Amino acid sequence: MKYFILFGPPGAGKGTQATAMVEKYNLHHISTGALLRKEIAAGTELGLQAKALIEKGSLVPDEVVEGMIESEFKTVKGVDGFLLDGFPRTLPQAEALDAILAKTSEVVTATVSIMIPDEMIMERIKGRALKEGRADDASEDIINNRIATYHNQTEPLIEYYSKAERYYEIDGIGTIEEVRDRIFSIMDRF
Ligand code: ADP
Repeated sequence: MKYFILFGPPGAGKGTQATAMVEKYNLHHISTGALLRKEIAAGTELGLQAKALIEKGSLVPDEVVEGMIESEFKTVKGVDGFLLDGFPRTLPQAEALDAILAKTSEVVTATVSIMIPDEMIMERIKGRALKEGRADDASEDIINNRIATYHNQTEPLIEYYSKAERYYEIDGIGTIEEVRDRIFSIMDRF
């Protein structure tokens, strides 16, 4: 099994690119953000707890998303691998992922990172807010908090995966097709 991580700040275009990636490489897409929004929509206990955190621009507890990931790995069959979108987002999550994969003697295949500058994050998320109406896209304050959360908690993963020689960064500026082709040129190597 291949385990690709789709990395990048909020608004980098991960969700957009994920669709093409899973199709081309026969992967199962796991978006922890989408899974959490599903829990919220279903009004579960977990969803209720997650809602308050997400709408502040904070992260939900590591154990919550780690459990989601492990259960997807166990239940999804018939694919060549997984595309993790929005996970891991903290160092403990990255270590937990390594531990989960180690149980079956597997490792992360590659981390593909889509990079855009902070100014563009704000611009893109505001554009998305008009179309999708996500509660965490609703105000500049929340978006700024998500950007700060990214820099403080998620960015250290760049060093983590660079050290493991599993980190590949591409420029997220350009058309959807241009960015997609940059991603494909990396994924084709694995
Ligand atoms: P984006 O990539 O645009 O920030 P996501 O849909 O990936 O949005 O995530 C939305 C929110 O869900 C995050 O801001 C966070 O609160 C929560 N979330 C998603 N994935 C994780 C994770 N791996 N760990 C903790 N919280 C998460």
